Amino acid sequence: VATNPSYPQGRSSRRPRVVVIGGGFAGLSAVRELSTVDADVLLLDRNPYNTFQPLLYQVATGGLNPGDVVYTLRAFCSKFENASYRRAEVTGLDLESQRVLVRTGEPVDYDYLIISAGVTANYFGIPGAAENSMTIYTRGNAIAVRDRILSSIEAAAQGLPGAPEPVVVIVGGGATGVEMAGALAELRNLALPVAYPELAFERVRVVLVEMTDHVLGPFAPGLRDYAEKELRERGVELRLGTSVKEVRESCVLLGDGEEVPYAATVWATGVTAGPVVDGWGLPTGRGGRVEVGKDMRVAGLDNIFAVGDVALKDGDPLPQLAQPAIQGGRHAGNQVRRILAGAPTEEFHYKDKGTMATIGRSDAIVELPSGVKLKGFPAWVAWVALHIVTLVGNRNRLSTMANLAVHYFATPRGLNVVTGDVPEDPRLTGGRVD
Ligand SMILES: Cc1cc2nc3c(=O)[nH]c(=O)nc-3n(C[C@H](O)[C@H](O)[C@H](O)COP(=O)(O)OP(=O)(O)OC[C@H]3O[C@@H](n4cnc5c(N)ncnc54)[C@H](O)[C@@H]3O)c2cc1C
Repeated sequence: VATNPSYPQGRSSRRPRVVVIGGGFAGLSAVRELSTVDADVLLLDRNPYNTFQPLLYQVATGGLNPGDVVYTLRAFCSKFENASYRRAEVTGLDLESQRVLVRTGEPVDYDYLIISAGVTANYFGIPGAAENSMTIYTRGNAIAVRDRILSSIEAAAQGLPGAPEPVVVIVGGGATGVEMAGALAELRNLALPVAYPELAFERVRVVLVEMTDHVLGPFAPGLRDYAEKELRERGVELRLGTSVKEVRESCVLLGDGEEVPYAATVWATGVTAGPVVDGWGLPTGRGGRVEVGKDMRVAGLDNIFAVGDVALKDGDPLPQLAQPAIQGGRHAGNQVRRILAGAPTEEFHYKDKGTMATIGRSDAIVELPSGVKLKGFPAWVAWVALHIVTLVGNRNRLSTMANLAVHYFATPRGLNVVTGDVPEDPRLTGGRVD
């Protein structure tokens, strides 16, 4: 076997090579599991950091610093003797010669491959949605959304001619849309009257558009109703049972004909794996996801696993959430261990640990598989605790805890919203992406 400079050096080059594509929840979990396997592990990601997506809405609403929710993949891999990281954007696979093709540099050899490249926003072909709306999928996206929203508030307070009204339209009433809407409404209600006494705070509107009749569809009806009531009380304008027909440059056209002018439209509805693995030569199914068997191996490819959001398990599509990704990554790592030991692979059984969503400060809902349901303050405490524990890295845990505590105890006067630069251009066509 030829040596490959991408793998850890100074160790046996005859060890099997496991390549993990994507350093998200699933990828990190796979690398961690593989750390006790006698193999060389190479993690590839187009970004040099892991992103904790569940808290990106906090970055987008100025509650957390971008650095609080990311963790460098080199530091992560350096914890394990057999793991290393290479920054690479994967463009395809050469299945015959067992190589991963990358945008820049040499292809990467593998004996076993774990694909955990996640998903991206699905615009469902709605005209103008991809061009004119923003997402909070990455750190850069979240910073751009934050800067756009806060800039529009600044411009409104200054009375800049030609500036759009500080209206934020959020499309999609799932957890991301609800969390974003709740956090923005609180920012508007609590912080703005103090920070912007010259601005009539009713001008800052938060409009949440959801196609079905409820927000947070997968939750029990009682919890959904509670979330809707809490959002309305915070002044979020709910447009339930309403579709988006078009996202124009300066307004969103709704299915009932209403035109909502906006400073920012945040697209938080639906995901697809299509653009992520397009052209990789893998079997794909619903949502563009890679079809895998019961053991999470890609149909017809014995040495390739797909896990996390990107995978579509045979007869049992798993929810596209953090826990299935974490458990799936661990499972794939363990199956590589079994194969190397000559043992048969095992079926992946997802253990549902429950779901939660936060509505705002001191307010959340939690639903456990046992049927236990929590709402309000106890649910929020559970939400905070789980997110702090799941974050990668102690520094991130501490800084997130400190920032959330400031928001909790110091609102409204001590509220120090994380801001970026405000462009001079009142049309605010772009947010700065660091
Ligand atoms: C805003 C938001 C909020 C969320 N909130 C919650 C929540 O509260 N609770 C919950 O359980 N889930 C939540 N989710 C879903 C959860 O984040 C995902 O289910 C989870 O991240 C999936 O993990 P993954 O490892 O499959 O993919 P990801 O975490 O998306 O990781 C994929 C990785 O692959 C890399 N990658 C992609 N393409 C390439 C390529 N071509 N080359 C190289 N690298 C590539 C990406 O850079 C990324 O690092 C949220 C998602 C979002 C977007």
